[in-house]
Amino acid sequence: MIILKLGGSIITKKEAKEPTIDYENLNRIAREIASSSIDKLIIVHGAGSFGHIYAKEYEIGAEIQDEEDFKQKKMGFSITQSWVKKLNTIVCDSLRENGVLTVSIQPSSFIITKNKRIHHCNLDLINKYLDMGFVPVIYGDVVPDLDESIKICVLSGDQIIKYLGENLKPERVILGSDVDGIYNKNPKKHEDAKLMKIVTSCDDLATEGSLNVDVTGGMKGKLMELIELAEIGVESEILNAGRNGLIKKALNHEKGIGTIVKKEKEV
Ligand code: ADP
Repeated sequence: MIILKLGGSIITKKEAKEPTIDYENLNRIAREIASSSIDKLIIVHGAGSFGHIYAKEYEIGAEIQDEEDFKQKKMGFSITQSWVKKLNTIVCDSLRENGVLTVSIQPSSFIITKNKRIHHCNLDLINKYLDMGFVPVIYGDVVPDLDESIKICVLSGDQIIKYLGENLKPERVILGSDVDGIYNKNPKKHEDAKLMKIVTSCDDLATEGSLNVDVTGGMKGKLMELIELAEIGVESEILNAGRNGLIKKALNHEKGIGTIVKKEKEV
């Protein structure tokens, strides 16, 4: 079984002022997935411009000040949940129209966090769909949180990847982003950034410039999830899904296309 993440930066125009799909990337990737030789697959996608705009505007996940603030945040929750659901529908439709039999899985209907980490999540349904031959498609969403001071939070696709990886022990975890892999610093801001083939620690990143504006923590947030996953024995690879054919190659078991995140002592 393979878990594939499609970054919000690749299936949406992340810098857009309103929710905008990148249809060219989405439809091409859907064709690549459909023509690859995978048996069992789970797809997790990010929210990109469908989620971050509203999550940021309504400060979802920030401490609740008073009743009025909670009311506002619940409004933001409802709006964000609605937009990411629309994105998920578009992603599932594109995949199905190109030959991938998808089933949509909505995190806010079955996941609860505690201090912003997944606390309650029953994977029986996902396992059942996998057994039936479906490709479950789950995504970055807003969810309730048991912490009384925040009550709701943003659940990133990257945290979902970590949770699924830990609990389902896939053969591979592949993350398609809009960069060739992990660099020692943000390649979009630093011309001299160097691409790393293997990463084993967050210390491999220069702190400066690696936390981008993304509400879910940018590359550093992503890497922290992947390092934790590597430590429990699940290796992952980040590659550029914007480049034609790379998702297909990775699904067809080619390794080392981007950056591999693995346990230190295995290097
Ligand atoms: P996605 O939406 O694909 O999940 P993010 O937007 O959260 O991905 O993270 C990818 C972005 O992280 C890249 O577009 C890049 O600008 C930024 N970034 C910051 N630091 C780094 C780094 N050290 N290496 C690679 N990308 C980085």
